[in-house]
Amino acid sequence: MQDGIHMSHVFHRSLTSDLPTVVGGRGNYLIDDSGRAYLDACGGAAVSCLGHDHPKVREAIKAQVDTLAFAHTGEFTNAPAEALADFIIERMPDGTGDGRVMYLGSGSEAMEAALKLARQYHLERGDSARTKIIARKPSYHGNTLGALATGGHAGRRAPFAPLLMDVSHIDAPYPYRQRGSAESEDDYALRLANLLEAEIHAQGAGNVMAFVAEPVIGASLGTQPAPQGYFARIREICDTHGVLFIADEVMCGMGRTGTLFALEQEGIAADITTTAKGLGAGYQPIAAVIAAQNVVTAIADGSGKLWNGHTYMSHAIATAGALAVQQVIEGENLLQNVKDRGTQLEAALRQTLGHYPHVGDIRGRGLFWTVELVANRETKATFPAGNLLAGRIQADAKARGLMVYGAQGCVDGINGDHVLLAPSYTSSAEEIDQIVTLLADTIDAVTGG
Ligand code: PMP
Repeated sequence: MQDGIHMSHVFHRSLTSDLPTVVGGRGNYLIDDSGRAYLDACGGAAVSCLGHDHPKVREAIKAQVDTLAFAHTGEFTNAPAEALADFIIERMPDGTGDGRVMYLGSGSEAMEAALKLARQYHLERGDSARTKIIARKPSYHGNTLGALATGGHAGRRAPFAPLLMDVSHIDAPYPYRQRGSAESEDDYALRLANLLEAEIHAQGAGNVMAFVAEPVIGASLGTQPAPQGYFARIREICDTHGVLFIADEVMCGMGRTGTLFALEQEGIAADITTTAKGLGAGYQPIAAVIAAQNVVTAIADGSGKLWNGHTYMSHAIATAGALAVQQVIEGENLLQNVKDRGTQLEAALRQTLGHYPHVGDIRGRGLFWTVELVANRETKATFPAGNLLAGRIQADAKARGLMVYGAQGCVDGINGDHVLLAPSYTSSAEEIDQIVTLLADTIDAVTGG
C-alpha cells in the first residue's frame, strides 16, 4: 500500500508512538512536550483555520459544556445546531434556496450521508432506476467504504478494491499536465466538463444518481481549482440529465479559498454540499451536509423523513464550537485576510521557488496552495515513488519547525509528489514570509535546490 499512516502513529497504547507528544497550541504554533514550537502551515489537513487557541471559540465551547453536551436528536433539537444552520443557509451560494443542514462527525460521514440523500431524493420522486455515481480522478472523498469508492485515489482504494461499489470516474482538471499551449482556457474547460456528459450517456442517462466533485481539489492532487466556466457547464449537464450535483467542500469550504464556499466563485450552486474542516476549525469534530431547496422539497413532499442517522449527529458542543468559529471568521473579517495573505503567499512562492529545477507547478487559491515537485521540469517526469520525496520534505520541514502536508502522486503514477500549504486564516504577513523561507530551505536541502 503506497498510502497510509504508520502503525505506531494512530494505534494508541501507553505512548508507544515514536512521534513527539503535542501539549498545546499558541496562535499558529503547536508546542510539543520538549517545548519545541512548530509553525503550522497546513492546519493538519486544512483543518486549523483559526490557529490553536482562539479565545472566543474556547469560551463558546466551555459555555456549552456548562449548559448541555448531548441529547438524542430523535427527541430534541438544540439552540447552537439551529443557529449554525441559519448562519450557513443564509450564506450559501445563490441558487441554494431555503435549504437544510445535517451535522455529522467527519468528512467521510458527510460524504456517505450526501450519497444516501441523493438516492433518497430520486426515490422520493418515484425514480428508483438512478443508482450510478460519477466522480472524478484524482479526487479524495474520504476513507469509509462509500466515500472511498467515490474517490479517485488509487493508492487508498487499492487494498479495498473488491469491497468498493462501482463508481465511474472522469478526469478532473489538471492543466499542468493536460492543457496544451494551443488550447484556450475556455476550450479546455468545456472539453473537461463535457467528459461528464459522455459518461452520463455511457451509463445510461436515466441511471445516473449524482455527480460528485471537489470545487477545488485537495488531498489527492494538491490544491487544484477548475478552469473558468468548467462548473457552469457541469451544472448545465447535471440539469439537462436530472443528475444531482454533490459539491465536496470538506477541505475547500468555509473560507479556505477566500469565499465562504469555493463554489461561490464559479457562480453556481450545488444540490448537496458537504463541508467539514474549516467548519469547526479542529476545535471539535464536526461536518455538515447542506441540502438545497429542491432536495428538501422532494423529501418534504414525499416521506417527510431522513433515511439516515448517527448517534452523535447535531452534537451541541460541536455545533456551539463551529458557530463560534464561523462568527469569528465573519466578525474579524478573516476572509479578507485569506485573500490578502493568499495573494502574498502566491507571489512569494512564485518568486522564491518558481525557478527551482525541481518545482514543476505552483497552483491554488486563497490560503490553499500546492507546490508540485518533478524530477525534470522539461519532461515533467515525476520522482520515482521509492524516493518518498514528499514524505522526506514533510519530515525535513518539521525538523526546521514548519508543518506542511506532503503527499505522493495518487493516480497510477500520473501526478507527482507535492506539498500542500493551508495556513490559518489568522496568519500574519511575517508568518507567511517565514513559511516560504523555511519551505525553500527544505526543498533546497532535500532536492539539492
Ligand atoms: N472529502 C475531502 C475533499 C477531504 O479532503 C477529506 C479529508 N481529507 C474527506 C472528504 C474525508 O474527511 P474525513 O477525513 O474527516 O473523514
